[in-house]
Amino acid sequence: MTSRILEPGQIETLAQRSIPRIRLPDRDTLFARRAERFEALAVASPIGAYLRLQAAVARAQHAALADFPGTLPTPAQRSAAQAHRMPPMPAAWPRAPAWRDALSAIGRAVAALADCPVEVARLGERVALLSMEDADTQADRLLGVREGAVDTAAAPLLMAALQVHWTAASSRLVADEVQPLDVPGLCPLCGMPPVASIVRAQAPYRGYRYLHCALCACEWHLVRVQCSQCGASGKDVAYRSLVADDGTGEPAGALDQAVRAETCEQCSSYRKIVYQEKDPGVDPVADDLASLALDLLLAEHGYARASGHPLLWQAEPDDAR
Ligand SMILES: [Zn+2]
Ligand SMILES: [Zn+2]
Repeated sequence: MTSRILEPGQIETLAQRSIPRIRLPDRDTLFARRAERFEALAVASPIGAYLRLQAAVARAQHAALADFPGTLPTPAQRSAAQAHRMPPMPAAWPRAPAWRDALSAIGRAVAALADCPVEVARLGERVALLSMEDADTQADRLLGVREGAVDTAAAPLLMAALQVHWTAASSRLVADEVQPLDVPGLCPLCGMPPVASIVRAQAPYRGYRYLHCALCACEWHLVRVQCSQCGASGKDVAYRSLVADDGTGEPAGALDQAVRAETCEQCSSYRKIVYQEKDPGVDPVADDLASLALDLLLAEHGYARASGHPLLWQAEPDDAR
């Protein structure tokens, strides 16, 4: 038997290979678990009514995804994307018309919610009745593929429907066939920035950090203690959470154990990071939205969000012209 000694570079390459690089969403559980998480977070939250509304949206997304016809990148789209190291189902990817049905269903679910404020119910009805043309125009603007003003009130519901469309595809792909991009801060499938990170607790992903796509829910690996925006690492990266105001330095509440902000001194930005080992129910989308108090604190300290939340439209300063 022959044996050989691995050089340090080879050892690192082997270690990298053993990490699952991509984790794709499970269409049967993604939105159902998110709805449960929103409901659970609503119980003790000062923004409980808002989180219950988001739970209703996630339940409607779950139902819409179950009926959603399959749309996948064609073999030609995939090989062209691979050749140019581009995402195979980018924002400009032609949408299946069924996305508009998902939007209607989400709008109707919001309008039918018990104890729903009248303006929110009207918004749900309005979105449910948007023409195909208007819905497509708004979706293109939201995804940045067409110029023009975004309908800020409708944007979260439009984004929820677009998530259904893109997740219907990402959940049918094979993780090993997804090629990571050269830009670690963008989704390898759709090219959108991540909403937040999650450190997973179950094998084979245990202990690894993944960035969670705001659009297609694909997760891709990034080493820990590294800025997902500019790539800085080491002492430039810090972790911040809300602490109790009793002087103990302990987390302010249960949510603050499992949710922190990864801040970067190089680019003065942050993204949240959620830890499954602290709470197995964490969800990057739900926990990010429920921890708005942490965003307010970080803004006071001069840090900017690296990218917005898909279900909370924040107008860029340019939009206010
Ligand atoms: Zn994506
Ligand atoms: Zn940075």
